[in-house]
Amino acid sequence: METGEYLYTSKAIILATGRQPVRLQVETDCDHIHYCSVCDGSAYVGKKVLVVGGGNSGFDESLYLLSLGVAEIIIVEALDSCCASETTQAKLRSYGNVDIRTRTCVGAVANEGNGCQVMLENLRCGARESLYVDGVFVFIGQKANTDLFHGLVDLDAHHYVITGPNRETNVLGVYAAGDVVQKSYRYLTTAMADETIAALAAEKYIRATIENEVQPTRVATGPNEPIRS
Ligand SMILES: Cc1cc2nc3c(=O)[nH]c(=O)nc-3n(C[C@H](O)[C@H](O)[C@H](O)COP(=O)(O)OP(=O)(O)OC[C@H]3O[C@@H](n4cnc5c(N)ncnc54)[C@H](O)[C@@H]3O)c2cc1C
Repeated sequence: METGEYLYTSKAIILATGRQPVRLQVETDCDHIHYCSVCDGSAYVGKKVLVVGGGNSGFDESLYLLSLGVAEIIIVEALDSCCASETTQAKLRSYGNVDIRTRTCVGAVANEGNGCQVMLENLRCGARESLYVDGVFVFIGQKANTDLFHGLVDLDAHHYVITGPNRETNVLGVYAAGDVVQKSYRYLTTAMADETIAALAAEKYIRATIENEVQPTRVATGPNEPIRS
């Protein structure tokens, strides 16, 4: 494995690079675009925010932002309808300060004062609208951090690493664990369980490899010479 500073060699390796939010596909230097409401939401108490993405994450995070005290939320969704669960949608829609716009995408974002000027584009009729919000929160999916591993280990169609029951990949000595792995549930607990299994399996693999290696032999080099090993 090569890093910026060193080249490491090992008998086994565990890939645990996690995943990251899909970024908003807009060229901007705006300082008010966020991907985590738990991390950044409290800065927007009493303010107006735009939430991008009408899936479960967008709705759940909007509920969380409202619980923090965000004053007003506009949700934009590119599809014809939002795909968040009906109950979550109903709960959020019951708040008076939430505006949900489907068939709408963000065309541009720019810094303005202490917030940002956003250009929204209606995907059905092409109409554009410019509005001021204090911040933008983006929840349009997650992406596995596997760019480095393409061609090294087998990945699924969504670029997650395919592993066996002991988190082994298709390459001997290479394991993968946590969010980067193809699986149904991605939580701290499932990541820790994966990482424990992968570490135990890797340790077992290393021990077996060492045991199978040719052990150094003791050689007598001459009648009066000590035995060397
Ligand atoms: C906003 C948010 C809130 C969450 N809240 C909860 C919660 O309340 N409860 C819960 O159980 N789970 C929660 N989760 C999920 C939980 O954080 C993850 O399931 C867990 O952290 C996955 O662990 P991991 O080790 O696989 O990946 P991560 O914790 O993402 O760690 C991966 C690490 O690898 C590093 N990395 C990436 N690429 C490289 C590279 N090329 N070289 C070297 N290092 C690299 C990354 O920088 C990162 O430090 C939350 C996730 C998010 C995003």
